Amino acid sequence: MSSEDDFMLEDDMSDIEFDDSMDEVFSDVDDFGAVIAEKDKLKPYEVEHKSLSVDDIRRVQTVRVQQVSAVLGLPDEQVATLLRHFKWNREKLLERYMDDPDSAVKAAGITTEDSAPPKLEVVPGFMCDICCNDDEGMDTYALPCQHRFCKDCYEYYLTQKIKDEGESRKIQCPGEKCNVVMDEKTVKLIVRDDVYQRYVTLLDRTYVDDNEHIKWCPAPNCENAVECAASLKQLQTVVPTVTCAAGHEFCFGCSLADHQPCMCALVKRWLKKCEDDSETANWLSANTKECLKCQSTIEKNGGCNHMTCRKCKYEFCWVCMGPWAEHGTSWYNCNRYEEKNSINARDAQAKSRASLERYLHYYNRFANHEQSAKLDRELYNRTEKKMAQLQANSELSWIEVQFLKAAVDVLVQARQTLKWTYAFAFYLQRNNVTEIFEDNQRDLEMAVENLSHLCEQPIDPKELSTLKQNILDKTVYVNTRKEVLLSDTAKGLKEERWTYNVEV
Ligand SMILES: [Zn+2]
Ligand SMILES: [Zn+2]
Ligand SMILES: [Zn+2]
Ligand SMILES: [Zn+2]
Ligand SMILES: [Zn+2]
Ligand SMILES: [Zn+2]
Repeated sequence: MSSEDDFMLEDDMSDIEFDDSMDEVFSDVDDFGAVIAEKDKLKPYEVEHKSLSVDDIRRVQTVRVQQVSAVLGLPDEQVATLLRHFKWNREKLLERYMDDPDSAVKAAGITTEDSAPPKLEVVPGFMCDICCNDDEGMDTYALPCQHRFCKDCYEYYLTQKIKDEGESRKIQCPGEKCNVVMDEKTVKLIVRDDVYQRYVTLLDRTYVDDNEHIKWCPAPNCENAVECAASLKQLQTVVPTVTCAAGHEFCFGCSLADHQPCMCALVKRWLKKCEDDSETANWLSANTKECLKCQSTIEKNGGCNHMTCRKCKYEFCWVCMGPWAEHGTSWYNCNRYEEKNSINARDAQAKSRASLERYLHYYNRFANHEQSAKLDRELYNRTEKKMAQLQANSELSWIEVQFLKAAVDVLVQARQTLKWTYAFAFYLQRNNVTEIFEDNQRDLEMAVENLSHLCEQPIDPKELSTLKQNILDKTVYVNTRKEVLLSDTAKGLKEERWTYNVEV
């Protein structure tokens, strides 16, 4: 077989490098809808992938079956059973079959002697061994193994397997100790149409489950799957965020929501740690804090962390409670953890206090971005109503007021990235390359807080065009900073530039 007629990603795909010629792999599947990220346009943190609909998955199976039946000269439904047995590994199937056809066929549970299409028969004087019915004119059926039972027994058996047990790939003959597998044509002949549809759906699922390069979109009620070249072996060097055709973004490695730039193994560790330490951390999701200067209560009702006390006008950072003045300059240090305390810690108690302090530094920022993203979104929902009024009372068109929605979308995404930079940083071994990472983190954070602050400004229709331009500029800037950060961390992963303080 030449690689040109390969229809899908080959099973030995896992060794292919991302930047190597992925064209070959996808060359023949282009007619199945657009490849979402094309090679030439890929950014360092993007992976090539494509969304597959249920129809695509069915078509791909049909084509793969036909390719093999052309080689083996067997009926399609038998080849389908063979391929399913060999987990769609065509090379393995062909090798085994060429080597010893009888054993390959037997292992898969098919018999090739009788390849006539399945049919129901009335057999005079027949009594069903399962239900002992011997009615004249009763429909009966026998698989190629010649285990004949009445049609009702076959139907009851199959329906139970499909509906109750969710089986599809390997439903064996009900005859005692018989391992002949029922194929699609037999199932279609015997069961009701709704049961057959269920059976086909289950078969599609096994196709996806058996293929390490295809995963279902984890979004509830989404029927798309995504095909991606990333393999489990590569998860140390790449964070494969993919998007299905319905726009759901998820990690191909672990099926969680996008968590770039933090690699899957660290995400798992971090979430476990947060769960275990949830009481120690005791992070207050409360939306109020006291002003350090005048002790009056300050409420946070947007995502922006640049706070101003209503009473005394003191401007401070919600995260570290430090004066905001330092946050807008190169002095900005809010994201960086000062390791001093842990270095000086001598006794066990001081050490454990320092390690808790370190964890809380990262955890608070992680949790804060998560909450801020929610608040940004809520604030937008309130603003949206205002925008609708604005639109009704002025010349503004619907399109013209969309800039705010776009800004909030970018903001929420950037906060998600920032959130995971803190989990990533928690496991990073400090050295000269982490400085660059922290600088990028700081720059993105500053850009995000500035945009967030602007989005909270009251909307004055007279000033709208200035505000709009300002927000548009800041939105572009946030995206630029995010790209810089993600590109650098992705390159670092690939070059194995990062060292971790845990085993990964
Ligand atoms: Zn029966
Ligand atoms: Zn049998
Ligand atoms: Zn989806
Ligand atoms: Zn992941
Ligand atoms: Zn105050
Ligand atoms: Zn701060």
